[in-house]
Amino acid sequence: MTYIKKKYRRLLSLADKKFIIPSCFERFIKEKEQTHNLIIKSKNSKCYCTNCNYHFISKVKVNDEIKCPNCKKTLLVKTDRLQQCEFKDNLQLLDKIEDTFILRTFELYSSYNQFHTTHKITEYMRTIIDNNEIKDFVTNQVHNHMGYMYVAHYQEFEYWRGRNYRWAYRDVQGMVCPYNLKRLLKNTDLKYSQLDKFVAKMSYIDFIYYFTKLAYYHSFEMLVKLKLYNLAREADRFDSGKTFKEIFGVPKTFYPFMKRNNIDRQELEVLKIIQKEDIKLIDKLKGIGNLKELSNYVNLEKAYKKVLSINYNSEYEYLDYLKACVRLEYDMKNSRVLYPKNLKEAHDKAINLLKLVLNESNDKLIKERAKLLDKFTYNDKKYVVFAANSVESLLDESKQQNNCVKTYIDDYALAETDIYFMREIEHKEKSLVTIEVKNNRVVQCRIKDNYLPNNEQMNFINKWAKNKMIYSNNSYIR
Ligand SMILES: [Zn+2]
Repeated sequence: MTYIKKKYRRLLSLADKKFIIPSCFERFIKEKEQTHNLIIKSKNSKCYCTNCNYHFISKVKVNDEIKCPNCKKTLLVKTDRLQQCEFKDNLQLLDKIEDTFILRTFELYSSYNQFHTTHKITEYMRTIIDNNEIKDFVTNQVHNHMGYMYVAHYQEFEYWRGRNYRWAYRDVQGMVCPYNLKRLLKNTDLKYSQLDKFVAKMSYIDFIYYFTKLAYYHSFEMLVKLKLYNLAREADRFDSGKTFKEIFGVPKTFYPFMKRNNIDRQELEVLKIIQKEDIKLIDKLKGIGNLKELSNYVNLEKAYKKVLSINYNSEYEYLDYLKACVRLEYDMKNSRVLYPKNLKEAHDKAINLLKLVLNESNDKLIKERAKLLDKFTYNDKKYVVFAANSVESLLDESKQQNNCVKTYIDDYALAETDIYFMREIEHKEKSLVTIEVKNNRVVQCRIKDNYLPNNEQMNFINKWAKNKMIYSNNSYIR
């Protein structure tokens, strides 16, 4: 058993003597027990509610949920062949010993068997919230089952021990009983925080986080009062600004819409961009990155319908495409430009074209260089060699030869190096040997796929070099 500090040992034993299950928590347990029930469906669509023992007829499918027409609980539907079924939930109750708050955690365990559900509740953890030191203690009923916490309801309580943080139940969350909170918070700094109202609207939460941190923000109280509960979960992000517009980034006219849909922060981010009361569209758009930037170019609703929903995970490619279109000076009001039918194809086409256009200044320089190097043009009966004369010719050579000569465009344009094409006179369009000349020396000559030229081709290159006073020897031409 782990050692427990004296201060905590005293609190734990005091709590053992004084803590009871208050009637408000009993009520809370009853409410949650009701959700631990099933609708059992037999043949001829006969349904039976294990919560209120009511029989009714429904065509609902097994594993769907349905609201019992009698008790109005929404429950999972199972077949009458079902043997066994389990439910587990963490229920939490804030309590107090002297001036120290303690969060009590219970597991509500229910099992279904033969049209009947039985419930058990066991308090297995107490969290002492002591001046920002938070300490968890668990009972002897808590076990580690393959790294997961397991509560043995059949065991009797014997003792408390410090929680082993190496286990995988590090973040125990629960549904917190709201009914006693207002009274407990009465003489604390959280008396106006609305934490009780917030808790009542939430399911599982990390209560300690709200109790020790988030509920202290003034924005928390404001957001709960505004009934924007999902935004209250991130109250720290709404702590600046005075007017509605300053705080939320949208005009106050959107407030009823925000409240009605209990929007969360991601949804608010989308609302800020589209400024439209359309929760379906907002939920579609909220997973998409770059939304703000995309909205500078396209109507997001159309973009979703025509491009984004068809091409999964395509928002970056789409943005890339749109930016290319702007630089290509396409008509950015034309739907065919903005919402291409085939994004991948349109993207690749635009990007390639852009590359060419960006090479325009290089192209001018290369054309001038080709004129200067024209004096090195040389041929015999079979072969000809001439300087590359445009960006396009280099791209074409690169493609035909499957080499990287296109990466020499800048160097060639700036006279760092010279690029020549050697071809057969009969087939002047067809690439044969790509030659690089630097400082009047042949430094590279390659045929397709970066192979070396054959002897006949080499002989021609040497003849050319000799004739045009280009230095070449075997150390360069191998
Ligand atoms: Zn019922």
